[in-house]
Amino acid sequence: MAEIRLSRANFFANLDIIKEQMQSVEKIALVLKDNAYGHGLCEMAQLAQEYGIKRAVVRSNAEAKKIEEFFEYLLVLADTPKSPSKKIRYTINNIQKIKKFARGSIVELKVDTGMSRNGVRVADVEEALLAIEKQGLVLESVFTHHASADELDGKYEKQKEKFSKLKESLKARGINSFHSCNSAALFRQKEFDEDMVRVGIAAYGCLELPFASNAQKLKPVLSLYAKQNSSRVIESGEGVGYGGTFVAEESVVVSNYDFGYADGFFRSCSCNYITPQNVQIAGRISMDNSSFVSDKEELLIFDDAREVAKCAGTISYEVLTSLKPHLKRRIF
Ligand SMILES: *Cc1c(COP(=O)(O)O)cnc(C)c1O
Repeated sequence: MAEIRLSRANFFANLDIIKEQMQSVEKIALVLKDNAYGHGLCEMAQLAQEYGIKRAVVRSNAEAKKIEEFFEYLLVLADTPKSPSKKIRYTINNIQKIKKFARGSIVELKVDTGMSRNGVRVADVEEALLAIEKQGLVLESVFTHHASADELDGKYEKQKEKFSKLKESLKARGINSFHSCNSAALFRQKEFDEDMVRVGIAAYGCLELPFASNAQKLKPVLSLYAKQNSSRVIESGEGVGYGGTFVAEESVVVSNYDFGYADGFFRSCSCNYITPQNVQIAGRISMDNSSFVSDKEELLIFDDAREVAKCAGTISYEVLTSLKPHLKRRIF
């Protein structure tokens, strides 16, 4: 079966760049949600610990439990605590759900400053703080999420401004811990002055920004390799795969490799995908296998999810998180 390889060197170099941007390793919270963006939850948690990262952000309680031993702090973005935990913090996304949180749980309040997705509206923060107190929860931090940190359309500045005002009013009441930056927002900061950054895609080396920054030095951590199933010479005029959409113009060697859309590779890359080593796909991506104009025993399918994303008309986040947990992951 195809194999995912994770580059320790690239991951650590990315963390060096992130650390330099924020002047602290303690404040890095590595976002490990959704199987660490497809990289493998435990593999990346282990590497993060090796580097000295103390904080992680995940989606669910189940993810938090799996990697609890690796970190001092975990933030769950979208789940409710059944019992309080010393290490795990839970996000409040909605005032109505506060009464479902177990008493004594540590919580962080997410505020909607313009993304209009999750979180409490700024006008409702007061009500949320009262409900948190009434439920006997321990409020540790107030945070927000940017909708457009990777775009230069002015929306980022508006959200930042709104959050700054909220921070000032909350500081006056003794609430002093805040965070707002994802990867793109971090690389927009001149001076980082919050308590934490929730960094995902930059650590995995696939951040794309419309402006020059240190982020250009980040390198992708994940590559996908596949092994040859079989190989044959295709004569001129013969078709390959379902629908025979690849037709040889002259006699060529076409080999079949052990990965397909059931492993999470996009079928929309059929016919026009070219690998980093300039190997052309031969016809359609099948469920469990795909053919290429190559005689290699082992084929590098991609080493930069952004290139696959371009071909599939999507973003690197989707390419990465689509990679199925059953694929073997190896750190090298
Ligand atoms: C996924 C997520 C992040 C990480 O975003 P990147 O763009 O990958 O850095 C940060 N904060 C929240 C709330 C998220 O859901």
